[in-house]
Amino acid sequence: MTHAGDLERVVTGPVRLSRRTVLRALVSAGAGMLLTACGGDGLDPFAPNPQSSASTTTPDDDPAQQQAQAQQIASEPATSEPISEAESADPLPAPLVYVLPNPVSQGQTILLVVEAPGASVASMSWQGQTFSLLRNENRFLGFFGIDANATVGPQSLSVAVWGPGGEQLLWQETVIEILAVEWTVDNLQIDGPNAALLQPAIRQADQSARQPFQTRLTSQLHWLGVFDPPTKGDITALYGEQRSFNGGPIEEYHTGIDFGGLTGSAVTAANSGIVSWTGQTRRRGNGIIIDHGGGVFTGYYHLSEVLENTGAVVEQGDLIARMGATGLATGPHLHWEVVVRGITVNPLPWIRLLEFPDPHQELNPANALTSTNLVQSS
Ligand SMILES: [Zn+2]
Repeated sequence: MTHAGDLERVVTGPVRLSRRTVLRALVSAGAGMLLTACGGDGLDPFAPNPQSSASTTTPDDDPAQQQAQAQQIASEPATSEPISEAESADPLPAPLVYVLPNPVSQGQTILLVVEAPGASVASMSWQGQTFSLLRNENRFLGFFGIDANATVGPQSLSVAVWGPGGEQLLWQETVIEILAVEWTVDNLQIDGPNAALLQPAIRQADQSARQPFQTRLTSQLHWLGVFDPPTKGDITALYGEQRSFNGGPIEEYHTGIDFGGLTGSAVTAANSGIVSWTGQTRRRGNGIIIDHGGGVFTGYYHLSEVLENTGAVVEQGDLIARMGATGLATGPHLHWEVVVRGITVNPLPWIRLLEFPDPHQELNPANALTSTNLVQSS
């Protein structure tokens, strides 16, 4: 079993430019949102300084000319009146970009939606990395996670959209505000053989064994709709809890939620996907990870038994494992994680105990990001 369309950290390669018409629509920024001028030479929309590598008017590759033109556009005053040097008979509609939610709290998942009929490729840049967005029906989608201990404050997010001829339709930058959460603090007493499992080297080995299998970006969603709780037990520990062990300093946070139960209790796939990893680590015992596509994974740990193999296609609700107490566990329970692009996030929204990042939700254009410069091909 292979994972179709693995890993797409591409997109920023050269594209052939067509002659362009500039539609400039600088509109006032919304609260908490910083907009910057658009570049758009189609070569590297996510260059560190987009204004220095941008041309919105010419098809040639003269960097000096491009820079001068980009700076001219960037320095022109904002106006609510779109200016068209129109020569396009049938331009594509302007892409609409939604960042849900913004502001975002530590531990939440952000869903980026780009509605761009007729566009061929869209990508985003976030924290120094550029990723293509998934095409899903009439939308482009991107999921990304905010760590429970992520630095609070503004973070830049850029979006680029290209048309079928390789022409850039949009380059847009906004700021996402990350809000602090007051996580609970728990001091755990871990004695006996389990105490040896607290060593940082063992924690690191556990992370290293699993992380490559929960960071890839599979280019299609294997799931539809909300996720289900993976077992019938009650939730006994929440995500984000800051943990110290045996009176020491806070060393880590709880990366998932725990469900209580008995050894042998059924553990089921929270949603459809492909098993990306099964194995055993000293810290988490027996585990299984499911790749749901779009960079979204779920992990199931401390299992007594794993019932699927890597590469297996599973449907939502399939029996995949049985609850246990393997690894660092004081009793039988299921530790369940949701991992988005390698970041462990709060699972509660995914089982709709908080707002679900639903890629199929209806969106009101009034809630789209306000426009920066739009570049329209002719
Ligand atoms: Zn846990």
